[in-house]
Amino acid sequence: MISEDKLGEIQDELEGTCTSISQIIDRHDLCIDEDDLEDQLLNQPKPIERCGGCEWWFSVTDLEFDESRGAGFCTQCESEDDA
Ligand SMILES: [Zn+2]
Repeated sequence: MISEDKLGEIQDELEGTCTSISQIIDRHDLCIDEDDLEDQLLNQPKPIERCGGCEWWFSVTDLEFDESRGAGFCTQCESEDDA
């Protein structure tokens, strides 16, 4: 179990980067599943999620969920799609 403080710290560290879940687990020496950590990052007051295109971390509110692709995409990836 990771404390809320720790999760907040991890979120700040991830947002705006393309750090992978396994990298962050290694860096903080966490005992948690990659899927569990992703879930927990989504269940925070300010959830973050990886863009399904470029795999950078964004605040969920900055991602556009694409139902056909089953993932959220940032505005940059969305506009590349239109091109
Ligand atoms: Zn993207």
